[in-house]
Amino acid sequence: MKKTIVLYKRLSDDLLGRLREQAEVIFVDTAQADGLARLRDALPHAHGLLGASLRLDSSLLDLAPQLEAVASVSVGVDNYDIADLTRRGIVLTNTPDVLTETTADTGFALILATARRVVELASWVRAGHWQGNLGPAHFGTDVHGKTLGIVGMGRIGEALVKRAAAGFGMRVVYHSRQPKPAVEALYGAACRSLDGLLEESDFVCLTVPLSAATEGLIGARELGLMKPEAILINISRGRVVDETALIEALREERIRGAGLDVFVKEPLAVDSPLLQLDNVVATPHIGSATHETRQAMARCAVDNLLCALADQRPQNLVNPQVWAMR
Ligand code: NAP
Repeated sequence: MKKTIVLYKRLSDDLLGRLREQAEVIFVDTAQADGLARLRDALPHAHGLLGASLRLDSSLLDLAPQLEAVASVSVGVDNYDIADLTRRGIVLTNTPDVLTETTADTGFALILATARRVVELASWVRAGHWQGNLGPAHFGTDVHGKTLGIVGMGRIGEALVKRAAAGFGMRVVYHSRQPKPAVEALYGAACRSLDGLLEESDFVCLTVPLSAATEGLIGARELGLMKPEAILINISRGRVVDETALIEALREERIRGAGLDVFVKEPLAVDSPLLQLDNVVATPHIGSATHETRQAMARCAVDNLLCALADQRPQNLVNPQVWAMR
């Protein structure tokens, strides 16, 4: 008998076809008003789950006694209680690597947009304010030749270093749990304490995963260590930054600006104080959001799930202990 997969993310026809060859597929559109209720109805049948952007808490997992594997269409796994999944013997997979370059592009887009005031000045042109030559009130700040500080030197961090050092002649400093000799040798990046990095950088880019150790990593004290002309870029997760402290620092111009792709609460409320500030560029969590990369992520998640359900070790195991216990 075929196993059952519950999908809570829309897939392209070819990927859906691949799943349907191997399993019964139930699609639940969690964006609909009754989406969560439908998911609850489907969970008792599920051997596999595939989706993203949903907190799979224990009350949902309790409804899925047959569940063997969850394939997340993301690299970040902060929506899952990994210890709970492991206790239940449920495999969790993610989609690293395929989104690395695209997410680094997003980081650089935010660096350039904030430094050169692209969004603010493009809106100014549309509003009909461009009546003559610009003066210093509309100048931005250079990116090339500046110092980029990367917090979390993993896959995306390294892809940023490559762009910064080779493309923009930037000096790079980084902070991570472990030193990265290869990145130092290849790009001349230098390892720093978090405080040292904050004091030294013109751009601080966050690329750490959200965890108990990184939640609130950048608060009022840390923002206070940044240079007044520095810009904060967050492409990791919103809760890595104390958003209230950031709003205060931006309002008081204690830092120059912020480029933010992620927020404590998403979607960002239209009345968020962040949207009142000209020195903020806010994007709607578009780190990996290109046609090519989202398709590659979905393909990766499908491969992982089909492997796990066929008792073959998936490539991107988040909790390999479960596999070892089989
Ligand atoms: P990764 O390769 O695992 O890199 C993360 C790095 O963070 C690791 O190398 C790790 O350092 C470092 N780190 C972890 N905890 C730390 C701590 N407490 N202090 C300092 N450094 C710490 O992951 P990735 O593929 O680059 O992705 C990183 C994160 O980006 C994801 O988890 C996700 O949340 C976010 N992301 C966001 C988007 C978006 O749409 N905006 C898209 C993709 C990813 P060590 O190696 O030294 O242990």
